[in-house]
Amino acid sequence: RSFDEYQLSEEIHRAITLMKYEKPTEVQREVIPLAMNKEDLVVKSQTGSGKTAAFGIPICEMMNWEERKPQALILTPTRELAVQVREDIANIGRFKLIKALAVYGKEPFAKQKEELKQRNHVVVGTPGRMLDHIERETLALDEIKYLILDEADEMLNMGFINDVEEIMKALPADRVTMVFSATLPKDVEDLCHKYMENPQHIEI
Ligand code: AMP
Repeated sequence: RSFDEYQLSEEIHRAITLMKYEKPTEVQREVIPLAMNKEDLVVKSQTGSGKTAAFGIPICEMMNWEERKPQALILTPTRELAVQVREDIANIGRFKLIKALAVYGKEPFAKQKEELKQRNHVVVGTPGRMLDHIERETLALDEIKYLILDEADEMLNMGFINDVEEIMKALPADRVTMVFSATLPKDVEDLCHKYMENPQHIEI
């Protein structure tokens, strides 16, 4: 199996070749076709499985470069993961000139506010700071078409449930939601049930 079967754009194909991804991992084989079909997904998979590219490839593929407002939000439990995911998205989207920004606590709000005024296709961040930007109207939500929860179980373990719910409520209803989690405890399942539309379940 190779990435050829997904009919990726030349720009994305060139980027993943440069990253030395030769063939899709199992989670990528499961997720990419469904994500390109705009299905809501709940994916049980571990770190190291290639899950970032599993959502990163379809997200970058579906971004409209012309649009100035963010089109995808990615929530992560930690600042370190936000930085890592932002970098992966920027690498996958490099030849499409996809711009990705990371926002997280303990960095000046004002700096992020200025960065959010620029063109950003994808915004990655921790739930607390992301919600701050939403409430203070420094992050435009009206063009958001994709929401990803990365390491959802960790996010809820860290006490972010209310922030995550507030964000999910604030986003346009006609979006695609993908939840990635190593485990699926009841609080994660409940969240998926409440804010997703007939999600497909994938277990790796
Ligand atoms: P992740 O599970 O997203 O943290 O990815 C784990 C590691 O696998 C990262 O270092 C990725 O760069 C790498 N990776 C992801 N997809 C592929 C692939 N298709 N082929 C080779 N390496 C990959």
